[in-house]
Amino acid sequence: MTSIEVSKIEAFAQALRTKLSREASVVTAASDKYQESIARWSVAAEMQAAIIVFPDIAEDVSEVVNFAVKNHIELAVCGGGHATSGSSSSEGGICIDLSRFNEVAVRPKESIVYAGGGALWGDVDKAAAEHGLAVVGGTVNTTGVGGLTLGGGYGYLIGEYGLVIDNLLEVTIVLADGKIVRATALKEPSLFWAIRGAGASFGVVLGFTFLAHRLDHPVWGGALVIAIHELDKVVAFANEFFQISDPKSALMWGFKALTPDTFAIVAAVFYNGPEPLGTALFDPLLKLQLLANSTQNRSYWSMNTLLNEDLRSGQRRSMKGSAFFAPLDLEFAKQCLHDFRGLISEIPDAESSIMVFEFLPFHKVISIPQNATAFSNRGAYGNLLWIMSWTQVKHDEHIRQWTRDMSSKANTEFQKCKRIWYDDGVTQYGVGEYVNYDGLATGGPQAFGSNYLALSYYKKKYDPNNVFSKGPKILPINDEDSTRFEIM
Ligand SMILES: Cc1cc2nc3c(=O)[nH]c(=O)nc-3n(C[C@H](O)[C@H](O)[C@H](O)COP(=O)(O)OP(=O)(O)OC[C@H]3O[C@@H](n4cnc5c(N)ncnc54)[C@H](O)[C@@H]3O)c2cc1C
Repeated sequence: MTSIEVSKIEAFAQALRTKLSREASVVTAASDKYQESIARWSVAAEMQAAIIVFPDIAEDVSEVVNFAVKNHIELAVCGGGHATSGSSSSEGGICIDLSRFNEVAVRPKESIVYAGGGALWGDVDKAAAEHGLAVVGGTVNTTGVGGLTLGGGYGYLIGEYGLVIDNLLEVTIVLADGKIVRATALKEPSLFWAIRGAGASFGVVLGFTFLAHRLDHPVWGGALVIAIHELDKVVAFANEFFQISDPKSALMWGFKALTPDTFAIVAAVFYNGPEPLGTALFDPLLKLQLLANSTQNRSYWSMNTLLNEDLRSGQRRSMKGSAFFAPLDLEFAKQCLHDFRGLISEIPDAESSIMVFEFLPFHKVISIPQNATAFSNRGAYGNLLWIMSWTQVKHDEHIRQWTRDMSSKANTEFQKCKRIWYDDGVTQYGVGEYVNYDGLATGGPQAFGSNYLALSYYKKKYDPNNVFSKGPKILPINDEDSTRFEIM
């Protein structure tokens, strides 16, 4: 798949227009809508697509896929546009922007919520709440339902209900041959298996159907800013918290610079229940020296907007993840802070970056076998995440490399612990990196571990020419491995 020669862009765009519904839009650099059409959450992930298509109906999407395949043009798909790897952008190719597929429909009696492939989590949170329901979704609800779901999906409710994909009932998807297919656990089960974790590599999902859950009461939660000298107490609390692992709770905390040389611990705390139970659980944290505290009774929707402002679009950003086992070693946490401080004193432009340890109760997530879905990061451990922010292009490479180095250092530690400690049937197969924390840019075997062989087999079945190539590299299986897979 290649890019379109500049001199041919308008002719291709014209040819494409004739195949689409009247309501679909086709945008090129000649349009005044071009800049906003290639905009992404991270400015550093924006690329100069030759053509951006805003399909209006399912058949438009099929036409664009067929057109790209026939003309050997690179194809990208954009949901909420939050990937920092650039996987929803294309340099010189065609981008399908799903923002018009943003319908959300609730069937309250059955506790079912439908969301279009280009809907945002905020749309889902709001619509579900109107019926006293909630869907397991992202903690920053400006993110897209599409990318977040197809990579797995963590949120405040995973302790009770599992990952976003564990609550996914059905998708409608356009495959590489342009066919529109419905996939569920019973209909096209291998496709449904593959899209739950590696979805971006298998097609364009037009709509998702989720199981929702009754949530008609306020939750308790908010953000804390804690003085940095309390680090040892925060680590001790977090380790205890993971030990208790109350499924109704969630804790994410990490480091943030208040100025280039003053650092603090920031935390998001959550309890799906009444305030007294929430405050009792988090009491040791609430007693520390707090520089800010926004905890209160609030709606689940409001909880998912808490971090939206800090994590707004418009900056250059890079995300990279790894994982850690509890008890989290205080020395390791101190080393992370030291490295983070070092980077920010070297590049003050990166001062609004944050580093996060996610202490999300994992028992429900690991009650499902590692090979039940393509998602390969189930385990008795937490995710670790760097969200780097800066403004100047000249820092791009240095900051990205620094983040990769940090992640790889943490992953070495993680792999060591995994070998020593875990044998619960799930954790030992966990890869220790969430693909959506821009493990999307990593290789398939690393991102999918023991599930990679099956993915590679299904890739050959559903997308043998690798039309959907922007995610982790999943190559169609070769004949020898194919036979090996079939007899397994
Ligand atoms: C501020 C912020 C907060 C986050 N919080 C969370 C969180 O709480 N929980 C969590 O699990 N993750 C979280 N993430 C990570 C998030 O899951 C990924 O960034 C995800 O890729 C976002 O999806 P998107 O649709 O917005 O992104 P996009 O950039 O649009 O898409 C990401 C990938 O998915 C593909 N894709 C998107 N939609 C479709 C579709 N409908 N059909 C086929 N392919 C599609 C794209 O082609 C691309 O490869 C967060 C990320 C950010 C930046």
